[in-house]
Amino acid sequence: MASPFGVLGNVFVSRPSKPRPLAQRTLKSAISCTGTGLHSGRKVAMTLRPAAPNHGIVFHRRGSDTAVKADFRNVTDTRLCSLLGTAPGPRFGTVEHLMAAFYGARIDNAIVELDGDEVPVMDGSAAPFMFLIDCAGTIEQAAARRAIEVLKPIRVTEGQDGAALELRPGAGFAATFDIDFPTPTIGRQSLTIDLNPDAFRQDIARARTFGFEQEVAALRAAGLARGGSLDNAVVIAADGSGLLNPEGLRFDDEFVRHKVLDLVGDLYLAGAPILGAVSARRTGHRHNNAALHALFADKAAWRWVDMTEASYAPSPVLATAKRAEAGE
Ligand SMILES: [Zn+2]
Repeated sequence: MASPFGVLGNVFVSRPSKPRPLAQRTLKSAISCTGTGLHSGRKVAMTLRPAAPNHGIVFHRRGSDTAVKADFRNVTDTRLCSLLGTAPGPRFGTVEHLMAAFYGARIDNAIVELDGDEVPVMDGSAAPFMFLIDCAGTIEQAAARRAIEVLKPIRVTEGQDGAALELRPGAGFAATFDIDFPTPTIGRQSLTIDLNPDAFRQDIARARTFGFEQEVAALRAAGLARGGSLDNAVVIAADGSGLLNPEGLRFDDEFVRHKVLDLVGDLYLAGAPILGAVSARRTGHRHNNAALHALFADKAAWRWVDMTEASYAPSPVLATAKRAEAGE
């Protein structure tokens, strides 16, 4: 006879307990760093400060009382990076790697104070920002952490090169990213990956930005990429001989991993984590931003949900990718 107390022999059979709700997070204390602006080449000082619950992430220019919220609606340029703000007000360039680090560190609320118009590039990845946030520490706040759940597919296609980005409903947060560059140094790379914050930290955060030697020369002639160097970007040699960086790559497929990093940072400009599956093919900042505009333009395509420990369940796309890999 089954025991009425849920005890089977000596084994206690517990009912599945309700997953613990997640709280918003901010930094435990302020922390600063200095670095170089990728495009201006100027030295920039940055301070990350704690902020109140439901404040979100807000960029401030030091010495000015105007601020710009880290929100996709405030992105005004996506050609070389994601840039927040409008002239003559403060502008903040290259926010995507910092935003990706906030995502990976589960930070909902922070003040980013800069004395220039660009986030410092550091090593071209999100890892130095995650290190900075880890050094400051993070704390839970008395407010529920919310996410944006995708309820129906949103697809963005732009340009002639087959670029396409799709957001689909699905458990957790995961992405499939395909890139295809004519240079054999990159070639075709495809990655299907879980993007819960811990997976992001481990598999994506260290992937550096990349560029082509000939493009770097053209950007410099136009007064851009002045701060770019082999210390903050992987540069592909114009003569097809491989990389200019003597240290080589951090991952065999570092290029597609960096594209995923940009995607995560740009999508975090939604104002909260996204729950759903992303497919991206040959896309960049422009598509990431357009996808958020398309998602929020359709009220039936998304909803707010309170996050729990179970929100980052493995996405079904990962199982499908595993089966495909095994040739099933
Ligand atoms: Zn990037």
